[in-house]
Amino acid sequence: MAISFSTFASKYRHKKMAKKNIKEQHCSFCGRPQSEVGLLISGLSGHICNECVDQAYQIVKEEFKSKGKGFDMPSLDTMKTPAEIKAFLDQYVIGQEQAKKILSVAVYNHYKRIGHDAMATEVEIDKSNIILVGETGTGKTLLAQTIARMLHVPFAIADATVLTEAGYVGEDVESILSRLLQAADFNVEAAERGIIFIDEIDKIARKSDNPSITRDVSGEGVQQAMLKLLEGTIVNVPPQGGRKHPEQKMIQVNTKNILFVAGGAFQGIERIIAARLRTSVVGYSFAGHKDDEVDKENLLQYISPADLKKFGLIPEIVGRLPILTYLNPLDEAALRKILLEPKNALIKQFEKLFEMDGIKLTFEKSVYDFIVEKSIEFKLGARGLRSILEAILMDAMFELPSDKKNRKTFRVTRRYAEEKFVQANVSKLKVAS
Ligand code: ADP
Repeated sequence: MAISFSTFASKYRHKKMAKKNIKEQHCSFCGRPQSEVGLLISGLSGHICNECVDQAYQIVKEEFKSKGKGFDMPSLDTMKTPAEIKAFLDQYVIGQEQAKKILSVAVYNHYKRIGHDAMATEVEIDKSNIILVGETGTGKTLLAQTIARMLHVPFAIADATVLTEAGYVGEDVESILSRLLQAADFNVEAAERGIIFIDEIDKIARKSDNPSITRDVSGEGVQQAMLKLLEGTIVNVPPQGGRKHPEQKMIQVNTKNILFVAGGAFQGIERIIAARLRTSVVGYSFAGHKDDEVDKENLLQYISPADLKKFGLIPEIVGRLPILTYLNPLDEAALRKILLEPKNALIKQFEKLFEMDGIKLTFEKSVYDFIVEKSIEFKLGARGLRSILEAILMDAMFELPSDKKNRKTFRVTRRYAEEKFVQANVSKLKVAS
């Protein structure tokens, strides 16, 4: 940036310096006297003319266009407070108060740490990668995604189940970064401040207890490979993903300031927690904990790093994901809220879709209950809400656009919803979930 501007400025400086009038004020950038420019703005120890301001503005604009690509570089000055971050999350994520609070603080500290690094002081602040534990469909991905949206930073989702140790069939751990680079439009600087959500981290738990597995290429091996990435290292990333090969041009990415959020259901971890709490999932409590002290319905709230280790994550990985929190299972009330309340709630989305055809879509209140009931009955969780709503509205979405001249409203009654739901292939919904 400085080079191109000074090239511009020096062009004028050389031409005009000779004529320079000592008394008259000059532009400190191009050297032209006040009499030759439209406007001269004074600063603390210099002046700038309107043309140089224009030129500088163009350079700044170009620079941001090529670098920024719509991404922000979160900094201490622009960073929202944890309470503001949580308030933003509240607009999109229902419930999960504890997770939202912990995540808000972690994200705040993460970007504070980046700012601190830039100041190069002696105290180095550790990275605060996050691990979210909770049933599938409770909002883990949504939380990470919403944070990235709020910060305008690149965001990528990586599925831990497809990762294998280098050299084995599957994807290298580096492929996670290829995805982030793609999300950042190959803007390395933006990617280096992005967020990566590693889904199903529980699936790479150590499997060595199983004697039938001789080589644990997708378990401990992957965890080992992931360590460096989580901690912060410079990685050669194949831009288009896939396996590295010698002729391929690599892009270097430093993972030091990338925020990793890992998520997993950790099925069965309640037993480990219960054992640690010396109580059982069903039954009596043991010494140290009175029964009424432990909420056995939701043991996940007591999760600790020790439980993750017992589950099969190697201690080093657990250490590099120091912020641990949990998500609650979604009950009927939460599902109903998810259907109606978030800023981009499903019902609002479908109302919008119909509105674009000039049709006002309305629902009988009991339709909402029906959708929630079915989602619970078929164990589809929050993800099922969409499939069920799609199934109910499919015929209307197919037919109404052809009739939009005459049709201005469409009301979904419970009877209509039940009828369409039965007609839809429910077993297909199950698979889709
Ligand atoms: P997970 O990552 O925990 O498996 P997701 O975050 O992918 O689950 O959730 C799946 C979908 O369900 C989301 O796209 C969102 O529409 C909805 N959803 C899940 N949990 C919530 C929640 N707590 N608040 C709002 N929507 C939710």
